[in-house]
Amino acid sequence: MNQVQDLAFLPSIQNDVDVSHLWLNSNPQKYWERCSVKEFTTNLHYRYHLDIPYIPNNSVCDCCRVPPIRIDRKGSHFLGNCNREHMAGHRHNKIRDIFAQVLSDVGAQTITEPAQFLYQGLKPDIETLVVPGCYDSPITFDIRITQPTTPLRKDPRNALNHLRANERQKNDLYSHPMNENGFMFIPIIFESLGNMLPEVRSFMFKIYKNYYNDRGESNEESTMNAMRKVRFWLKKTVCAINKQNSTGNLCRTQNLINKKNFSRQSNNKFRDKPHMICTI
Ligand SMILES: [Zn+2]
Repeated sequence: MNQVQDLAFLPSIQNDVDVSHLWLNSNPQKYWERCSVKEFTTNLHYRYHLDIPYIPNNSVCDCCRVPPIRIDRKGSHFLGNCNREHMAGHRHNKIRDIFAQVLSDVGAQTITEPAQFLYQGLKPDIETLVVPGCYDSPITFDIRITQPTTPLRKDPRNALNHLRANERQKNDLYSHPMNENGFMFIPIIFESLGNMLPEVRSFMFKIYKNYYNDRGESNEESTMNAMRKVRFWLKKTVCAINKQNSTGNLCRTQNLINKKNFSRQSNNKFRDKPHMICTI
C-alpha cells in the first residue's frame, strides 16, 4: 500500500497542470502565509511523502474514528479523515474565503455558505448572483481539498484523473438540483499538495480577462493582467493550503503528545493527592 501511495504523490507534484510548487519560493515574504522553519520542513516531508519526524511512531489517534486509527507518520490521517479539531475543515474554509475574495475582486456579489438550498440537503460553499458581463446566470461553487491518495484515485500515476473523479462526484451531487434552481454549478477541486483542476485556472482567467476588457484594455493588456491576477491568487491559495497542512500536522501531533504527558501526570500520586484530600 505504501508503494502505491508513494507512486501517487510524485505525479501530483509533477504533472502539467502543477501549481503545487508555488509556495516553495513564497515562504520568506512577510505578507504571505508565512511558515516557521518547522512548518516549512513539515510541509517538505509531506510533499515528498516522507515520515514527518515529529509525529510519534506507533500511536493511535484520539479522534472519534471507529475503529481507532493508527497514525501514519506521513501526515495523511491528520490532513484527511481525522475528525478532531476540524483541521481539514479549517483548510477548506480558508480556501473558500480566498476564492470568495477572487469573485469579489471582479465585482461579483458573493455569499459564503448560502442557506437557501438546505431544504434540499445541499450546502454549496459559495453563491454568486452575477459575475458582471461574464455569466448571465447565478453560480454556486463547492470547494474540495482532496488528498493525493483516496479511494477515488484508480491510477496512482495519474493525478489529473483523480481530480476529475472528484469533479464528477461533486457534479453528480450538485449539478442537476442547482440547474433546476436556475444556478450554474462549478466545482473547485484542489489537492492537498496544491495541485488543482485545470478548469479552476480557466475560470479565474476568464473572469479577470473580462474584467480588464470591460475597463477598456486591449486584448494583449487584458490577457497579461488576467494572467498576473490568476498567478497571484493561485499562489496565495497554494500557500494557504500548505500553511494549513503544516499547522494541522503540528497541532495534532503536539496535542497528542500533550495528552499523553497529561495522562502520565495524572497517574502521579503527588498530583492526585489534593483531589484525594478534598473527597475525604
Ligand atoms: Zn484522528
